[in-house]
Amino acid sequence: MSHHRHPAATSEAGTCARAAEGSARAREGAKRPSGGALGNHAHNPSGAAGGAVSGVDEVAAVRDRRAERWALLDAARPVSRVKRLRECRRATLTGTGNPVLRTAPGGRSGFAGLATCGSPWVCPCCSGKIAARRASELAAVMAAVEVAGGVMDLVTFTVRHHQGHRLADVWDAVSAAWARVTSGAAWMEDKAGLLGWARVVEVTHTGRNGWHVHVHALLAWSSPVPEAASAWVAMRGWGRWDRALRRWGFDSTPVHGVDTRRVVSGDEGLAGYFGKAALELTSSWTKDSRAGRSPFALLRDATETYEAGDLGLWWEYEAASHGRKQLTWSTGRMDLRRLAGLGREESDEAVAAEDTGGDDAVELVGETWPTLSRRRWQPELLAVTDVGGVGAAVAWLDERGLPWRWARPYRREGPRPRSVQAQREAREVLSYSSSLL
Ligand SMILES: [Zn+2]
Repeated sequence: MSHHRHPAATSEAGTCARAAEGSARAREGAKRPSGGALGNHAHNPSGAAGGAVSGVDEVAAVRDRRAERWALLDAARPVSRVKRLRECRRATLTGTGNPVLRTAPGGRSGFAGLATCGSPWVCPCCSGKIAARRASELAAVMAAVEVAGGVMDLVTFTVRHHQGHRLADVWDAVSAAWARVTSGAAWMEDKAGLLGWARVVEVTHTGRNGWHVHVHALLAWSSPVPEAASAWVAMRGWGRWDRALRRWGFDSTPVHGVDTRRVVSGDEGLAGYFGKAALELTSSWTKDSRAGRSPFALLRDATETYEAGDLGLWWEYEAASHGRKQLTWSTGRMDLRRLAGLGREESDEAVAAEDTGGDDAVELVGETWPTLSRRRWQPELLAVTDVGGVGAAVAWLDERGLPWRWARPYRREGPRPRSVQAQREAREVLSYSSSLL
């Protein structure tokens, strides 16, 4: 598995480093440096990401992460027990014909017409798309709270756990305990002055202590309540949390069980959590982090080694995460989404399936998509398209004998590329990109 991903990630970065010399699009992206925030540092033994990539523009970083997500999804297919995940982005949507290669500015070409699994938990591709949406919504909410003159606190509730605990059991207890935090007479008292809350569940695993399931909650206050007052509410919430856990055979400690942090202006809070999750697979969850391995780090290890222990853990995670909500908002009078002028919340499935725009360019006919899928060439075609445009894409397809036709209706702005000229233009791009890819 690894022999596929690492060269791909490296070469895409290299491709873009060359392209940056002449491409206006790449220059546009270069305004925002990647800052070395790529998610693949931790597992890119070649060192290419740490060396060559630092200084490469954001467009290349986007491409890298996209390639990594595709690679991990493809690696997951043979081992996953979730049918929808195995078929995510492999099958086409029923009734829509062939998949279509789309172009969009800023190095964001993509494929349309593919079925998506919509899982925020187990799918490397869908989870990224969902997290990006949630991050932008949370950022909007946080801005609205500030405009309303309020303040926010980020409270983390944890549970004591050990290796013998089953993930489903810990998760059930955590869900029940959070429900208990936000209900009852004491909560009615505590929530006076609260605009609302949002909570997210995070799961990690350590070899030593097993599954770690915890809740991050954003508490939004309508006025600048002192931090001590907020911490007091959080501590009372922890009391309910702990009592509920005990009913489920778990417990927590006040020292480790609850942590409250004021979200200061410019702080990222929960939106930052989702922002990171949207951008990277591993950044905040590197393998040696104290919080343990993220599920995607687990999946990567499992698919690289086929080690029985990791595979078993991944399967347990697949089963236990099924049907659970990752992000929950307070509702009714504490509707933070309404405060921010956001519409009704879309389901994870709807967000994952959403059309992200771009211009239909090339229809991938016949066996082209199955071949791309089987050979795991999807990110390579996207990279070629980003760098060289539609002309490069069709030349790339032609070189591999993969049938295609212009997508109809062809909605691309500007003159439609004439195949011969476009291919000539693409030749230069291809000459180095294919040597690298
Ligand atoms: Zn998916």
